[in-house]
Amino acid sequence: MIGRRIDLHAHSTASDGSLTPPELIRYAADKKLSAMALTDHDCVDGLDEAVAEGERLGIEVIPAVELSADHPDGTMHILGFFVDRRHEGFCGRLRRLQEARRERNPKIIQNLQSLGLNLTYDEVVAASGGGQVGRPHFAKVLVQKGYVSSMQEAFERYLKKGAPGYVEKFRFSPQDAIAAIHEAGGVAVLAHPFTLYKDNSVPLDPLLEGLSQAGLDGIEVIYSTYSGEQTRYYRERAEKYNLLPSGGSDFHGAHKPGIDLGVGQGRLEVPYELLEPLRKKAQGYKVSVHAG
Ligand code: AMP
Ligand code: ZN
Ligand code: FE
Ligand code: FE
Repeated sequence: MIGRRIDLHAHSTASDGSLTPPELIRYAADKKLSAMALTDHDCVDGLDEAVAEGERLGIEVIPAVELSADHPDGTMHILGFFVDRRHEGFCGRLRRLQEARRERNPKIIQNLQSLGLNLTYDEVVAASGGGQVGRPHFAKVLVQKGYVSSMQEAFERYLKKGAPGYVEKFRFSPQDAIAAIHEAGGVAVLAHPFTLYKDNSVPLDPLLEGLSQAGLDGIEVIYSTYSGEQTRYYRERAEKYNLLPSGGSDFHGAHKPGIDLGVGQGRLEVPYELLEPLRKKAQGYKVSVHAG
């Protein structure tokens, strides 16, 4: 018998997913998930609605976030599970990240326009469905206008780091991102480590050593696109550095075709048993007092 399943990585329209927070939770209930984490990028705006819908449907919604952190080579994302979404200091830090996006986004438009692509920021905002604007929304408009044939091609040609449309934005250092999550009573988990280095043969050990010292609590060992070998490698790293294993699909709805909630590309399976150790560890961080 298959045990209870969960999904600890999913996005809503509050960032760059295509389902609203309540739609996402209803979808999770349809998929018979017993718990899921809403992990919008740099933003907790969807959590109230998601938690309320979860209570209505009897599915546990873990309040969470996915922070982008500064890393010289590839992309570092740090998930925060069980964060207090009303924590004043934490919300202030998120506002800083949102401000950085507002500064960056018009510059991406300028870059794309200077390449001769005809699109406006208003069109990108419309594509975002009212939440925070991210690169997938630029990609969506480029697809709609026929400049590229897929979201993936939009990133490859225009939007990924090093491509002509790309613009840097302020990010926290990994240490500050971890500290911010702890401050809000959450556990900090390194997401999809394969995005850290362009060269996949770079050993993670020196980085994990430093992140562990900074208080990293966990690492994503189950993920939609991992091979069995990747999962084994990350599990070994988890054991070596005493990191809790986590897992999720990174579902973005229509903005990431081919990745479905709970099941990823079809074979993903995140067991409920991963959740309790993360919850227990988060309880140890419930230290700081907040108003509201
Ligand atoms: P942003 O936070 O606005 O910089 O956008 C980050 C999001 O863009 C990520 O969460 C992914 O969903 C998406 N993304 C980043 N790089 C790629 C890529 N190379 N291909 C497809 N999607 C990507
Ligand atoms: Zn995303
Ligand atoms: Fe991510
Ligand atoms: Fe994600």
